[in-house]
Amino acid sequence: MSKDKIWLSSPHMGGEEIKYIHEAFDSNWVAPLGPNVNEFENEIEHYLGGNINVAALSSGTAAIHLALILLGVQKGDEVICQSFTFAASANPILYQKATPIFVDSETDTWNICPNLLEECIIDRISKGKKPKAIIAVHLYGMPFKADEIQKVALKYEIPIIEDSAEALGSSYKGKKCGLFGDVSVLSFNGNKIITTSGGGALVSKNIELVNKSIFLATQARDQAPHYEHSELGFNYRMSNICAGIGRGQMLVLDKHVNKRRDVNKFYREKFNDINGVKIHNEPSKDYFSNFWLTTVLIDESKAGFSVNDLRLAFEEHNIESRPLWKPMHLQPLYDDTNSYLNGVSESLFKNGLCLPSGSNLNKSELSRIEFVIDKVAKNKIK
Ligand SMILES: *Cc1c(COP(=O)(O)O)cnc(C)c1O
Repeated sequence: MSKDKIWLSSPHMGGEEIKYIHEAFDSNWVAPLGPNVNEFENEIEHYLGGNINVAALSSGTAAIHLALILLGVQKGDEVICQSFTFAASANPILYQKATPIFVDSETDTWNICPNLLEECIIDRISKGKKPKAIIAVHLYGMPFKADEIQKVALKYEIPIIEDSAEALGSSYKGKKCGLFGDVSVLSFNGNKIITTSGGGALVSKNIELVNKSIFLATQARDQAPHYEHSELGFNYRMSNICAGIGRGQMLVLDKHVNKRRDVNKFYREKFNDINGVKIHNEPSKDYFSNFWLTTVLIDESKAGFSVNDLRLAFEEHNIESRPLWKPMHLQPLYDDTNSYLNGVSESLFKNGLCLPSGSNLNKSELSRIEFVIDKVAKNKIK
């Protein structure tokens, strides 16, 4: 009997999406602009709260690229980026022919370490170049140490690009992720907490920056009856069809967050009795994670099995799990990049695994997952 694949994180429709897509068809707004785009932006602004502006774009990667341009990052400039992240956080630095500088993580949130960040900035300045921006990431939905990072950024007057691609619905000290950057970035790719099939957004308190991002995302066309261009533009705007999906998804966002937190709790209880296994958790009440992905660290010497054993056992049962992000400073693409390291992300990469975490996991799928965990961890109960 072949069982359906259980994915790490798959699209989960709420039901209303199709209504907004129909509206777009009926009114022939099948374009990278239209009422769904405007409404989707308003709905995100309302959801995040605060005095904030949103531009809906074709992807999170496009949003990071535009964020760098808006902050004036040019060829030869240095940009600091969290090493422990997905490649899309860092690659737009290369699109600008700028130079990434990677900084390692701390063990509480697994995100950029504030102390190492300051060391890095001091060292870069002493070498003659002040970094132009800091890309900090709320990895797997866990908020970074926002107070400490913002303090360092303010002290050296370097703007923050907040990569909140994985953290819509998370918050820090009661404030939603997406509100902690000079420019912030969301993603609505197919595997994220809500999806528009593909899409992203740029978020900022500064409305001029957001308006400029829309200008750049629609080919940077100057005011004139003909097509006049004085700046380099891009085709990065979100389509009205995708925004329709997004509007339907906004209705179920909080439900998705609750469901992912339930899945996290399921794993926490499941692994509670097993030696050497630790589910990544919020360091204190200040942190509220959407638990986009639940992640686990396994100390093989105590557990008697490794992350690889668990991953292969899942695979045998047609269940997807995945190693944690391979740090950027270990990627062949970034071979000769300056990096400020403390060993944290390398150790996480070696001992960690992402577990199936979808908001659409049903009872029978959870029991299939449970079966595999029981099998691998058999005789390992404390
Ligand atoms: C998904 C993701 C991105 C890129 O978003 P896309 O919409 O896929 O382009 C950027 N950073 C992180 C951390 C991500 O997980």
